Amino acid sequence: MGGTRPRRLPRNVIFETPGSVSLPELEQRLQELWTKEGTFDASLARRRGRPRFNLYEAPPTANGSPATHHVAARAVKDLFWRYKTMAGWYAPRRAGWDTHGLPIELAVEREMGITARSQIEDFGIEAFNRRCRELVDQSIAAWKSFSDRMGYWLDYRDRFLTCSPWYMESVWWAVRRLFDQGDVYRAFRLEPYCPRCATTLSSHELELGGERRRPIARARLLISLKNDPSVRLLTSIRELWMLPAEAAIGVDAQATYLKVRWRGQVVVLLPDAVRLLDGPVEPVARLSGADLVHLEYLPPFPEPSADRRFLTVAVRQPGETGFVHLAPAHDQEAFDVCREQGIELRRALDSNGRFGPDSGDLAGRFVHGVNELVVAELKRQHSLHSVLAERKASPICWRCETPTIRLGQDSWFVSATKYRGRLLELNRGMEWIPSHLREGRMREWLAHNVDWAISRSRYWGTPLPIWICEGCGAVRCVESAVELGLAPGSDLHRPHVDRVSLACTACDRTMRRIPDVLDVWFDAGCLPFAQTGYPTARSDEFQESFPPDLMVEGVDQTRGGFYTSMVISEALFGKNFTRRAIALGHVLDGAGRKASKSRGNVLDPALVFDRFGADSLRWWFYTSVPLGRSYQISFDSIDAVARKVLRPLWNVFVLFDAQASWSDFEPRLWPPSLVESRPCLDRWILSRIAGVARSSRKLLDEYDAHGASLPYQPLITDLSNWYVRQWRRRFTGSQSRPGDRPAGLWTLYEGLLLISQLLAPFIPFLTDAIHRSLCGRSVHLCDYPDALDALQDPGLEETMAGLRATCEEANRMRSAAGVRQRQPLFAVTLPAPGYPADLLEIVGHEVNARRVEVAGSALMIDSRSTPDLVAEGWARELIWQIQAERKRVGLGIQDASIVLYRSGSRLESALAGFRELILDETRSVQLLRLAGDEDATTCSIDGETVHISVRQAARDAVPAGA
Ligand SMILES: [Zn+2]
Ligand SMILES: [Zn+2]
Repeated sequence: MGGTRPRRLPRNVIFETPGSVSLPELEQRLQELWTKEGTFDASLARRRGRPRFNLYEAPPTANGSPATHHVAARAVKDLFWRYKTMAGWYAPRRAGWDTHGLPIELAVEREMGITARSQIEDFGIEAFNRRCRELVDQSIAAWKSFSDRMGYWLDYRDRFLTCSPWYMESVWWAVRRLFDQGDVYRAFRLEPYCPRCATTLSSHELELGGERRRPIARARLLISLKNDPSVRLLTSIRELWMLPAEAAIGVDAQATYLKVRWRGQVVVLLPDAVRLLDGPVEPVARLSGADLVHLEYLPPFPEPSADRRFLTVAVRQPGETGFVHLAPAHDQEAFDVCREQGIELRRALDSNGRFGPDSGDLAGRFVHGVNELVVAELKRQHSLHSVLAERKASPICWRCETPTIRLGQDSWFVSATKYRGRLLELNRGMEWIPSHLREGRMREWLAHNVDWAISRSRYWGTPLPIWICEGCGAVRCVESAVELGLAPGSDLHRPHVDRVSLACTACDRTMRRIPDVLDVWFDAGCLPFAQTGYPTARSDEFQESFPPDLMVEGVDQTRGGFYTSMVISEALFGKNFTRRAIALGHVLDGAGRKASKSRGNVLDPALVFDRFGADSLRWWFYTSVPLGRSYQISFDSIDAVARKVLRPLWNVFVLFDAQASWSDFEPRLWPPSLVESRPCLDRWILSRIAGVARSSRKLLDEYDAHGASLPYQPLITDLSNWYVRQWRRRFTGSQSRPGDRPAGLWTLYEGLLLISQLLAPFIPFLTDAIHRSLCGRSVHLCDYPDALDALQDPGLEETMAGLRATCEEANRMRSAAGVRQRQPLFAVTLPAPGYPADLLEIVGHEVNARRVEVAGSALMIDSRSTPDLVAEGWARELIWQIQAERKRVGLGIQDASIVLYRSGSRLESALAGFRELILDETRSVQLLRLAGDEDATTCSIDGETVHISVRQAARDAVPAGA
């Protein structure tokens, strides 16, 4: 079919028969075309030298597979890059990857079957890191094809990796500057710690993981005094596993205690705690808390070595019984008390979260899951009073979901609290989308920030460039490979730099590097300058692009990347990290639960792309909720977007394409007629487009991706339902007024061009397919439509809205009067005068009335029936059936047909009078009687059986109405 006449529209490079192309198929062809033609480069090239629009590609972590939430942030970033480019800015986008840190290490551990960190050192750090690097390279390939598939344009020639020598050296430079400013220090602190990953977590990482409710075993114990084991203290402990780390028992020196006889033993406790003892309790004496301080006791578990004494110490909060176990290596309050009183720490866990050899039966066991063992041991010693199992929310590791503990150790910090006042000030002066973040979540976080623990005892990361003298303890911070005597561009990873020792200038002994690597968020916070290798290379590019106009991240990043960028930008440059930031909501599944790999409810974007197309998913992200709200994603809702917006738009184009080919439409030869001289309907759709363009563009300039996308949905519905329905009539009947057809072709041509240009930043594939087919040029090399105001006619839009409401009302009246849809009404009478003639015609068609009168004071229909009207109703029914049949046998709108039909004599004689109408409306050249033995489709018109057969007419046949 098709091609009966020469095409005047550009010969299409994407498809032969647009009607048969699926959206995903179309996208793949365009993607190939863009690569072949270098469309992205061309779009940048035409803006070189123009003012810059700066939005960094905040690099994804190069591991695993891209997930749907990556599409959310990328859809928003790509929208603004594309929009700004079309609107005249130079918007370069450098591809990059976050390549360091635990995510990669864990993936390699899994692959190698490593369960404890010590195995990595057995395996060899060099080989382990080499494997991490290989994994990064593999993931990068997957990320690139994912980006291409979603139409996310990035410059790969100038890509950066956070594990490249020049990026890492830039990070070293930053550490060195902070060090020189006195912002980097070492301290022994209790830090959140993941025993599984064997690493400290910074406060923002702890926030990322969130919390999970899990069972906690709190317990009350009976502890014997050393000099009189028959006297026992009723104590409480926060968590049973901390017992091997206990260093002392706290007692309230200000309180009065009771000594009681209970079950044949003497128990000391607070008077309020007597109720905790069941059975008869006999008071013996009152004791002053002061007398209970510095008593030596026998720790129950495990048995202590002979050289250490365990004493009670004064505390302010002695718990419910009056005696509380202090485990200073794991509990901040206990830590503070013990440090104040000079009590030695007892560390029961090694860095892998396993109990050490001094922990009795627990030796070698992992910290979580030992409660039963501890309970059994305490029971054996008759030291257990009661276990209080409760469920408590406790923070979990953001990577492996293991409950975190607190662990005292030496860490390196950036004094982020020093900058708190300035950070709050910067936050006040910047724009947040959604705006409530500024005074809410972000301010709250900044107002309570703590110093940033930047050291991690791991392997695949930027080594902390600090060397310490093994003689005098002098500390030196290094900023470059050259400073270490290495060639520029040398690999700065462990173990290479670990092998470099320096001579101490203070005492001539050797300085060695501390084994730690940097928090991976430190890498991320250095992005603005490290991506260009600042300050060694391209410092002008950094100056031009910093601070950027916009940052787009998930809302978690108020405590992650947004925060660390802010700290580093302020500490190094005294500037904010960005002018404005968009923080996107979480992606939830259809049931409203956060999508996570462990739950298995993550929607694979590749699947969505294959089924509905990337444009559908992009459009879904723009339109579903305002920026900052959670996205509740499901196949159904993406399908709805494709069905209600993208497909209808494409179908309008397909229809236009077919009609334009048939009509020899030649855009180069036909000058646009003056807008004013076109029919109202044409002026109306152009006005609608202009109005939407104006309001959408204003919102795009305010970075409101959601608001800017919304008005297009009703516009496309108006276009595909109302406009095109009326428009088609010009080409089917022969009653069309002269000039209506060219005006219609020209208007739809212009309208589709405009819509594809306006929507190009949102849905880059579909719009380019349409645009290229209309004019042969990529839409992405166009300027964003501007100055459409002349097309706007608010009065006409109001008139059309009133007219549509009137038609709907009249149709309600006709169905209330029981008149079938295809049965013409005798007349419809409109109340308001003043509709132009071409709009009155629309009413006639929409309401299916023979006459439209403007006279009455109210809307009225005249539903009287005449034989002629009834016959026309049958004729219209038959037309509808023939059209369905034409479609069924695969005829295009331009194909002429021959119709054969047979029915009862009543119908046949009535239809004879409408022969011309039937031929005209169905683009048929002949209407013949069907022989009794021929195959045909059977239908029923007003209770009478009708047999219809449709064939394609010869190519040179000229249908009625052509
Ligand atoms: Zn972990
Ligand atoms: Zn020294």
